[in-house]
Amino acid sequence: MKVGVLALQGDVREHIKALEECGVHPLTVRRRSEIEKIDALVLPGGESTTIALLAQSFGVFELIKTRIGEGLPVYGSCAGMILLADRVLDATKDQETFGGMDITVRRNAFGRQVDSFESDLTVAGITAPTMKAVFIRAPWVEAIGPEVEVLASVKTSGGVEHAVAVRQGALLATSFHPELTGDNRIHRYFVEQVCKTENSIK
Ligand code: GLN
Repeated sequence: MKVGVLALQGDVREHIKALEECGVHPLTVRRRSEIEKIDALVLPGGESTTIALLAQSFGVFELIKTRIGEGLPVYGSCAGMILLADRVLDATKDQETFGGMDITVRRNAFGRQVDSFESDLTVAGITAPTMKAVFIRAPWVEAIGPEVEVLASVKTSGGVEHAVAVRQGALLATSFHPELTGDNRIHRYFVEQVCKTENSIK
């Protein structure tokens, strides 16, 4: 299985390392010819607006969008989650996403005073112990469609629960960055479970 990490901006190297630990030989991808050949894709954390603009410049934005629509398994962390979302709140003007996941995310949702924080999370489908999740100017999921499964959520200061790990068929997204904590259980879950699923989106 050829797993690509979209290498336009963001924490590409950390995702490569996490995937290698899961026994796959990941490739950094940014050109059309590379993206046409992959069987699965990881969208790194970074800056969603920059990644989208660079994808346009490299002429791969529509290709990635099309491949997601055709069933390509994709995992997105943080900015990657935003890029997978069909709807974005607090987006910049004209911000575009690849979409594919029937979710509404809010960018930078956790507020300025807590731009970065850690939380111990229980994630459905991931075996114990809890996962130390690192959030950096992270989005949360504000609404989900009927086919979306919530794998983990966080209770915010107002007492409201917001989803921070979601799955829809072959698409997986987390608000947090497992690639930064040396815990490869999310990547393993992606490679071993999610990539084996038929993507139901058409
Ligand atoms: N706030 C960033 C964005 O909107 C995401 C931050 C991250 O990936 N750590 O893209």
